[in-house]
Amino acid sequence: MKTLVIGLGQAGGKIADSFLADDRKSPVPHTFECIAVNSALSDLAGLIQIPQEDRIVIGETVVKGHGVGADNKLGADIAEDEVDVILNRISKVGVADFDAFLLVAGLGGGTGSGVIPVLSKHLKQVYDEPVYALGILPAENEGDIYTLNAARSLKTLLPNADAVILVDNGTFLRGGESVREAYARINKEIVKRMGIVARAGEVRGRKAVAEMVVDTSEIINTMRTGGICSIGYASERVTVRKKGFLSKLLSIFLGGGKKENIGKASRILSVVKRATKGRLLMPCDYRSANKALIVLAGPPSELDRKGIEKSRQWLEQNITGAEVRGGDYPLPKSGYVGCVVLLAGISNAPRVRVLLERAKIVQEKVAEEPIGVKNIESLLSDIDKLGGKK
Ligand code: GDP
Repeated sequence: MKTLVIGLGQAGGKIADSFLADDRKSPVPHTFECIAVNSALSDLAGLIQIPQEDRIVIGETVVKGHGVGADNKLGADIAEDEVDVILNRISKVGVADFDAFLLVAGLGGGTGSGVIPVLSKHLKQVYDEPVYALGILPAENEGDIYTLNAARSLKTLLPNADAVILVDNGTFLRGGESVREAYARINKEIVKRMGIVARAGEVRGRKAVAEMVVDTSEIINTMRTGGICSIGYASERVTVRKKGFLSKLLSIFLGGGKKENIGKASRILSVVKRATKGRLLMPCDYRSANKALIVLAGPPSELDRKGIEKSRQWLEQNITGAEVRGGDYPLPKSGYVGCVVLLAGISNAPRVRVLLERAKIVQEKVAEEPIGVKNIESLLSDIDKLGGKK
């Protein structure tokens, strides 16, 4: 699935940059092309891979290249006013060469959070290609304003994008680690998982042809259900032993080949279960998904067809909907069997529920409390003056 990634704001830009770095090293390069949009010049300057002409500055007359802070309403207003600047650049990249858009942003911030629903809406009006969004949810300890921003952005984004893949920064934190320390690891996970899904649809015609091809149309059909999506991943090390003629013959006569295949099939099923149940970009109840897609990547000799079929059946029996697609992505030199599970149309995501409940409380608090001078004045009125007992 040839994808045009548009990184919005700081997190979005950094992740788009990582997509490009990974793409150029991959066995199927040019599956991704990337653009970055920001109101902060310093964030754009910090990017490494994205060419200068694909770094778009917005809001310069309003915020003078300094960014919008955490004001996502301002981010959205600037996007509405200057959407033509972004659309112009996109049209120059040549949208006809792409199968889909992927807009990426941290939903808790200002620029990315504000721009993502606005740009998504306009892209859907102009183009037939599906517009997917990848939104980063703030970790719970990132503060109230981030929570409120994320909730507002998500509310506007869901009806304006074809599907929204969510990532929870909090899920990836190790004991005592700060969110910042985890960024590189989280970004790598996002790029790896999206990379496997998108490239699996591009391997046709390459040297190692997949046995069960994942067509781009299958990825699009899975995402067509819309709403919230999450992506799981798990892998297992494998040692691929090249068999000589004699051992091949022996395994045919002694039935060892069959046993070996059963072993491969059950390994695949176990990796798929781990990817689905435990290692999601945003934890959720996988059983509440409406559709799913399984992609198995690894050395062709390990990608047992029966294993993929069994895994597909297992997931089909366990999710709410009944459509599960599956296929493989051969990586002849890999020492791992990796599995990506894309769950689409998720209806039960406790992390989103907690975020929205918290955001409601924060919104009420913000509405009640007069901000700035008045607030300080009311606080001062409760304090005794100096020299009052003369
Ligand atoms: P913007 O520049 O105004 O759009 O704001 P940011 O992109 O910095 O958005 C803030 C949110 O994004 C917070 O929840 C941050 O924790 C998160 N964030 C910032 N940079 C990264 C990153 O590189 N990776 C991830 N996963 N999250 C990030």
